[in-house]
Amino acid sequence: MASESKGVTDFTGALRLLSTTEVSADDVFDEAGGTALLLSRDSDAKKWGSRWLGQSGLQVTVASDPANGLDLARSMRPDVIVVEAAMSDCGKRPFFEVLQEAADISADVIVLCANNSQIKAALIANVFDIARKPYNWQSVAARAYHSLQIKNRNASLAESKDALKEALELANVAREQLRNNQRFEPVTGLPNKSKFVDLVRRGMSATDKNGGSLAVFVVGFTRFRLVVEAMGQQQADKVLAEIGRRMAACVSESNAALDHSPHGLRTAAIGILDSHRFALMITIYDDESLPPFQQRLLEVLSRPIQVMGQVVHLSACLGIASYPQDAEDVDQLLQRADNAMRDAQSRGGGCKYYCADTDRAAARKLRIEHMLHEALDREELTVAYQPIIDVASNKVVALEALLRWQLPDGTSISPVEFIPVAEESGLMLRTGEYVLDRACRQFAMWQHEGLELSHICVNASAVQLMSSSFAGTVQRVLAESGIQAAELEIEISERGVLSGDNEVLGQLRQLKSLGINLSIDDFGTGDSAIAYLKELPVDTLKIDRSYIEGFGREGKDFAIASAMVALGQRLELTVVAEGVETTEQLDVLRDITCDCYQGFLAAKPMQPDAATEFLQKNRKTATIKPV
Ligand code: C2E
Ligand code: MG
Ligand code: MG
Repeated sequence: MASESKGVTDFTGALRLLSTTEVSADDVFDEAGGTALLLSRDSDAKKWGSRWLGQSGLQVTVASDPANGLDLARSMRPDVIVVEAAMSDCGKRPFFEVLQEAADISADVIVLCANNSQIKAALIANVFDIARKPYNWQSVAARAYHSLQIKNRNASLAESKDALKEALELANVAREQLRNNQRFEPVTGLPNKSKFVDLVRRGMSATDKNGGSLAVFVVGFTRFRLVVEAMGQQQADKVLAEIGRRMAACVSESNAALDHSPHGLRTAAIGILDSHRFALMITIYDDESLPPFQQRLLEVLSRPIQVMGQVVHLSACLGIASYPQDAEDVDQLLQRADNAMRDAQSRGGGCKYYCADTDRAAARKLRIEHMLHEALDREELTVAYQPIIDVASNKVVALEALLRWQLPDGTSISPVEFIPVAEESGLMLRTGEYVLDRACRQFAMWQHEGLELSHICVNASAVQLMSSSFAGTVQRVLAESGIQAAELEIEISERGVLSGDNEVLGQLRQLKSLGINLSIDDFGTGDSAIAYLKELPVDTLKIDRSYIEGFGREGKDFAIASAMVALGQRLELTVVAEGVETTEQLDVLRDITCDCYQGFLAAKPMQPDAATEFLQKNRKTATIKPV
């Protein structure tokens, strides 16, 4: 049985409580928080030893029987054992030796020695410390305390070593992850630009050694910006991941075909250059293998992509440059493939091999993009107006707003060239809003002057139609200019825009519900199926100039144009013929009962003042008079 008091447990058998002494050790030691086992038969030793050890913050257990002491040492696992040298086990071995040798006892042993031979034996046993009789208990307690401190320090050192090891391991994992992140793009898991460049560099060295040539493809899309704007980045990431998968599948398909042939293509790598361009590198051993591969890639990438119930139509654009034919180093090779891709992009998709012209075209586009920013800031773009005339009455019914960009040196850049640049560089929404705003204000001014016009036509790009803010912008402009929704007609080019996208259809319906008129521009140049035309909420069809041009020369053009007029009228649409330059063409249009026409025959697009003059001159007459 044991009793406890003030941190001291007595196992002496006599079970007496140790009273506190007149000596206070509180000032001497900090709280150590360890345990001590005091083994002694000497009552003074037990009294003072337990007191001082207790005062030094140790939880002290006192025992007098060595046999009992060993069990206690094992069960209580003290940090320090203070033992009398004279105590021995039943085999008469000094008990401190037994403790020192016991592998399962890790306590530091302090031996209380009464003579030199005991000191010698304790030293030989390599005990932690020795105290010589008469015992200075303050010093014994200090040594016990010191032993504990060393233990604690070692433990925390071991702990910090472990923590350090752990931290180093974590740092290594993080470094590895960072390295991977720096080498692989997270959305697609494909090598990123820097890794891809390394791979191309290696491919180039292999080509130098083994012959053949290395083709680098840069893969872009004509409408990716629209997709991102319309769907948001998260959905667009899914589209990117799908594109990556399709490229990889196309590549492994071509690799599998290689197993049967020693020649052909050897695919080396696919990579992603940024959020909308991919790259691919292949080693070519015979020239015939490239065209079928590129055709297959184009086909695979141009298939609709389904993302969370939405179908996305993208037109893939491939730019190809080869080493050593087209470039000397990796940067040039990638740049030239990229220029070729941009060239393909401005042609609305497909595949383009690098040639010297590609660089010139790319440089010009870059310059236009840069200048366009400034032109918009300085309001250098102007809007010209071209009248639309009713064929039967010969009266101006509407005007089409057309952008003009005259440079300070007097030359001008055509919208045919700068609109695609604006679309690709993210400037189209701003540009489109600018035209819409000017045109609606101008129309309001003409109305104010008493000119009788049915409506104003403004062209809208695919980028605008895909933007969720477009309907809101139109509403704001209408409100600010004060014109009615029915007095605005939005022209949507059949080329590129009307390919069955749900988002575009949704936007068109929304515009229609506002009361705005919609017209299909350049009709006959795109691939809107007639069935699809029935679905579209449009009011007007504008027959492309190319059909009117062929009147008289091309029997087919006449047949097609008259079929278009008939179709439009059956669908109860107004039909406008574009690009009418001669009276003969107008006569034909009258014969086939086309509703309206537009063209140089009546007037070229005019700046606002000239257009106003033109309208005033023709307000009362049925014969169109030029300004
Ligand atoms: P579009 O909308 O089909 O405009 C008709 C184009 O044909 C205009 O070219 C006009 O100047 C031209 N044109 C009209 N009558 C004749 C003619 O009798 N003979 C010939 N040879 N040409 C004629 P422009 O102004 O160069 O515009 C070209 C295209 O650029 C436009 O085709 C339209 O698609 C686009 N565009 C122009 N302004 C804008 C705009 O503000 N926004 C958007 N998104 N596109 C615009
Ligand atoms: Mg137009
Ligand atoms: Mg047109």
